[in-house]
Amino acid sequence: MIKVGSDLFGAASDVLVGGVNSPARAFKAIGIPPVFIDRGEGPYIYDTENRRYIDYIQSWGPMILGHCHPQVSEALHRAVDKGTSFGAPTVAETEMAKRVQGFFPSMEKMRFVSSGTEATMSAIRLARGATGRRKILKFEGCYHGHADSLLVAAGSGALTLGEPDSKGVLADLAQHTLTAPFNDLDTVKAIFERWGDDLAGVIVEPVVGNMGVVLPQPGFLAGLRQSCDDYGALLILDEVMTGFRVGLNGAQALYDCKPDLTVLGKVVGGGLPCGVYGGRADIMAHVAPEGGVYQAGTLSGNPLAMAAGIITLDILKTADAFAMAEKQCQQLVVGIKEIITSHSVPATIQSVGTMWTLFWCPDPIHNLTDAKRSDLAQFRTFYKAMLRQGIYMAPSQFEANFVSAVHTEENIDSTLTAIRTYCQTVR
Ligand SMILES: *Cc1c(COP(=O)(O)O)cnc(C)c1O
Repeated sequence: MIKVGSDLFGAASDVLVGGVNSPARAFKAIGIPPVFIDRGEGPYIYDTENRRYIDYIQSWGPMILGHCHPQVSEALHRAVDKGTSFGAPTVAETEMAKRVQGFFPSMEKMRFVSSGTEATMSAIRLARGATGRRKILKFEGCYHGHADSLLVAAGSGALTLGEPDSKGVLADLAQHTLTAPFNDLDTVKAIFERWGDDLAGVIVEPVVGNMGVVLPQPGFLAGLRQSCDDYGALLILDEVMTGFRVGLNGAQALYDCKPDLTVLGKVVGGGLPCGVYGGRADIMAHVAPEGGVYQAGTLSGNPLAMAAGIITLDILKTADAFAMAEKQCQQLVVGIKEIITSHSVPATIQSVGTMWTLFWCPDPIHNLTDAKRSDLAQFRTFYKAMLRQGIYMAPSQFEANFVSAVHTEENIDSTLTAIRTYCQTVR
């Protein structure tokens, strides 16, 4: 049993619900207290007892340049010295928007907010407001933040209305969210045939990260685009995770799928709280103050978030940082594949760009039902062995791991060595 953080977790639990400020951090799926982080540096994080870990969580995605990147830190220091919030327009917001648009030309107009949740929630309200329709379609296993309309599970049986996936979400609201299995165009078509006239939009993670990395099958995204066009519904690509992770221009470029609205978060804020939604100018014109869909934020477009975002996007654009991250990720994935094949380990690795998940399941994963076939006991044992070796991965089978631009070949090699040693023991 690893002792890491146990006393600290006890103290935290006295005052913080569940000892954490976001449930995924609690390590519940592993059954040990979470590691308490003191600081980060490049590809590493250090716990409160100065133990060093190679970080594959990267704050759940944002830290693609690693921790404390000198240029990001410098930009932040400069921004702090000018004042941390004004609640008034700053030039940095325009500069940041131009950069986002450079990577995502489909975002003709945009609005900055403070989190991915806020951005998806606002995009859903906008889709409803702009179309005058009530229903939205999402996919099982996709996570779009914790807004009420999106914390919805499939009803029992095919083609049933959605049900709340959290206490406190009203069934009256959840029934307007329909769900389909990821990669299942037949169900999508059936839903459109039944509810198409009342469907405001379809929201999807174009590559799913939130059930572990699951790729869209050829034709899936194009099929969603087609159905939306046939029925006048809006296609919302939730690229909060994939935005600068599957490729610099997101999954929409990688899979050639043009959305009506895009949602970004995580990397776009360079490690500070920031989200953004945007898309077709005629749709965005419905957002206040131009239009009648209300959405606002005291800290939206915050100067620190803009400073961190601008420098992060500039480094990604000019310094080949993304290619570095992708190369290291590829090396890791190829290495893991070789290990699980040569040791006949019942596992599958799935990845794209700088994201990867090792599923403890021998077959490829195409949807949530597949993902749930994973051997969670095996995952737990593996996880604890990796943590002991100083390798910090997402503490759940159903999450993505990330590689940054500053992970070194030595980091990748030592990770592979630890995985190989572990796999020699798996039967
Ligand atoms: C993380 C995430 C969100 C929510 O973002 P927060 O900043 O945590 O609110 C939404 N959608 C996707 C795809 C995500 O990965």
